[in-house]
Amino acid sequence: MEQALYVYNTLTRRKEVFKPLNEGHVGMYVCGPTVYGDAHLGHARPAITFDVVFRFLMHLGYKVRYVRNITDVGHLEHDADEGEDKIAKKARLEQLEPMEVAQYYTNRYHDAMDALGCLRPSIEPHATGHIMEQIDLVEEILKNGYAYESNGSIYFDVESYNKDHKYGILSGRSLENVKDASRELAGVGEKKNQADFALWKAAQPEHIMRWRSPWSIGFPGWHCECTAMGRKYLGSHFDIHGGGMDLIFPHHECEIAQAVASQGDQMVKYWIHNNMITINGQKMGKSLGNFITLPEFFSGKHEKLEQAYSPMTIRFFILQAHYRSTVDFSNEALQAAEKGLERLMDAWKTLGGLQPVEGEGSVTSAAVEDIRQKCYDAMCDDFNTPIVISNLFEASKLINSIADKKETIGKEALQALTSLMHTFIFDLLGLKEGTGEGGNEAREEAYGKVVDMLLEQRMKAKQNKDWATSDLIRDRLADLGFEVKDTKDGYSWKLNR
Ligand code: ZN
Repeated sequence: MEQALYVYNTLTRRKEVFKPLNEGHVGMYVCGPTVYGDAHLGHARPAITFDVVFRFLMHLGYKVRYVRNITDVGHLEHDADEGEDKIAKKARLEQLEPMEVAQYYTNRYHDAMDALGCLRPSIEPHATGHIMEQIDLVEEILKNGYAYESNGSIYFDVESYNKDHKYGILSGRSLENVKDASRELAGVGEKKNQADFALWKAAQPEHIMRWRSPWSIGFPGWHCECTAMGRKYLGSHFDIHGGGMDLIFPHHECEIAQAVASQGDQMVKYWIHNNMITINGQKMGKSLGNFITLPEFFSGKHEKLEQAYSPMTIRFFILQAHYRSTVDFSNEALQAAEKGLERLMDAWKTLGGLQPVEGEGSVTSAAVEDIRQKCYDAMCDDFNTPIVISNLFEASKLINSIADKKETIGKEALQALTSLMHTFIFDLLGLKEGTGEGGNEAREEAYGKVVDMLLEQRMKAKQNKDWATSDLIRDRLADLGFEVKDTKDGYSWKLNR
């Protein structure tokens, strides 16, 4: 950890040297999906962004506790116009238990994220499993005088909070323009101020998902779950809170207010936000008809898609932009990403077949180290994956030149180049070979073990002077493209593709 890692903190609006609160440990909370429908491109981006953050922090030697919640209460705030809990609505329409709907889409979300190569979080808490913690939070805020009851619902009193603390520090909004911008219809007439937000809502008779509280039978406000669960699993002060930029206001702004109103100070040290994805220059939205789910991308079954795109193409496409830049989706852009990824993976395969020269070749160890350092610098500069990728393409050019005999490489430099490519392509960017449908790496490893098993049988045959069997194994493997060499202490093999 000798080189400093810089991260952009949305709260301070600048890049800061990353220093965790507890040496060697990092606590990271990322807002997860609301599970009433399939994940779309807008879900893929935060998942991939924070997967790379997770991977890189672990690579730096930190022990990371990564918490990503499942929102399984479909809050009114998500869809003020419809006025019905989305999970409950789906359940009613499909005649299912609300939890059946939530579980179904949670499973589908996991499948999509696995396909995208996102590592599973350390803890994945559900909002419905933490109602007590959310009630506790609301009670603390009430006790401190920053909330009030109205018809069994509890609202956060933004104005009284703003007198003692400053509301709007994350989004840079003042209370005045929050009031103007707030179009939340729910709770009109119950709230003292338009900017106030619900901490607890009394349930209407038709509301299925409901719990007992000191104030009414109802359900918690959306912002409560992340504050309550973040604190439960990461402590009252933790390092990173992440999510998409669309969550800065109101969600994360309200989370900060809830934390300060309950415990007196902020919980989070670094707020990290990924930018949004647009589709042909437009914001994604159901009403615009450009809402493409991940299963639709993987199968190509959507009128806006010219073809199917593999999960790895989607991942590569997203990583080609810095997480704080916008990304515009189009078929052309995804097709270009598909080609780029193929080029990179071809170079990786070519690398496996390169033969080193004696001593130092024209591609020196210093040249390889220079590329590695540039990749590493880019990751340390606020996880700059597009710069990493451009350096990996530089390395790919060298690999192809060596394969074409225009350049040469020594053994030490070749090992360094292989390790550099492996670390950045697979371990840090999290890409997988093949179609990326998952399990390819594991399958390759298993195939390798089978080859080893056969070659051990061949060693035994040789020891028994059974030359016929020994030659048969070698020749049959050669037919399949395996080059087997006898070495001092046994054998070595590689697959020539
Ligand atoms: Zn959240």
